[in-house]
Amino acid sequence: MYESYGLKRLLLMLTLDILILISGAALLLLGKLLFFTSAGEDSEAGVFLPVIMYHSVFDTAPREYTVTPEQLESDLKWLRDSGYTSVTAQQLINYTLGKDGLPERPVLITFDDGYYNNLSEALPLLEKYDMHAIVSVVGRYTDSLAPADPHVPAYSYLMWDDIKQLIASGRVEIGSHTYDMHSITGQRRGCAKLPGESDEEYADTLSADIGLLRTEMHSNTGYVPLVFAYPFGSISRESVPVLRDSGILLTLTCYERPNLITRDPGCLFGLFRYNRSGLYSTEEFMKRITEKKNG
Ligand SMILES: [Zn+2]
Repeated sequence: MYESYGLKRLLLMLTLDILILISGAALLLLGKLLFFTSAGEDSEAGVFLPVIMYHSVFDTAPREYTVTPEQLESDLKWLRDSGYTSVTAQQLINYTLGKDGLPERPVLITFDDGYYNNLSEALPLLEKYDMHAIVSVVGRYTDSLAPADPHVPAYSYLMWDDIKQLIASGRVEIGSHTYDMHSITGQRRGCAKLPGESDEEYADTLSADIGLLRTEMHSNTGYVPLVFAYPFGSISRESVPVLRDSGILLTLTCYERPNLITRDPGCLFGLFRYNRSGLYSTEEFMKRITEKKNG
């Protein structure tokens, strides 16, 4: 009787122990799931982030670097209906610093070259679909070309007051696309280092250009850019310390691949982007950029 009671008690204790172990493991698993899903998709390896590169938005025949307002609207609608949330550069920076999480399906929307139509055509659509974007401007275009022929949606560039409007909307962050290195001059393509140029010469040249845009932007708008878009996607390893020194925390290239965002701030240097050519349908383009296997 005693023995039988003891055995029963032992079995009961063992069962309780097993139950406690199982529930503990379940809690751990649940905690892990909650922790990682709150940080975004795929977050054990990093958060999957497609980045879209637009240029001009104008009502014309679609071209490689121009989409129509209808195409932009169709893209934004597709993203919204597919559960994507556009994130800001500041959100990504905060995420890498361990401060915030990211939405379940983040996407980064960017516009290069600083066309006036980014204000006249794109901003109303960003507002309609509750999206954010980065507009990267070329200082010389804004200082000289824009005032010479202002506010023609087909080809004008943004003036400083237009840029202030974009900032005031709360939907657009302004990036640097160099002050005056958006060209192919001699052997220099964009702001890439020349063959044979010393590191010091290159750093001086790039730093002077980046500093000029920063000064112009700050004095005209009170804004300091945190984002830098490489003209033509021409990158040089030696540009990174120069850009960091001038306060840049995120850089954009033109390599067409998806990104994985981790808790390392360094992962924001050299983000890949897909050019949104106007020659494709929304469905064709979105299928390409949301496929993860390329990563
Ligand atoms: Zn450009």
